[in-house]
Amino acid sequence: MKATGYVRKLDHLGRFVIPGSVRRSLEFTDHQPLLIAVDGDRIILEKETPRCAVCGERATEDFAGKHLCVECLAGIGRL
Ligand SMILES: [Zn+2]
Repeated sequence: MKATGYVRKLDHLGRFVIPGSVRRSLEFTDHQPLLIAVDGDRIILEKETPRCAVCGERATEDFAGKHLCVECLAGIGRL
């Protein structure tokens, strides 16, 4: 993971601004849904992406109206 070195203070409601250069480099849209996870003392922000309906990993394919990952698609013989 690459550290960018940005420091931001939370406001009184716990908000902060993600620098525009970071938003652009990650191709955030306006009102980008973000997934917030905690790993020990770290907060991880991820663009919310569809999750596989079978295993919960990031899904990259649509099949019969469901999001599936490549491995699960292969498991049902669709790849
Ligand atoms: Zn899967």
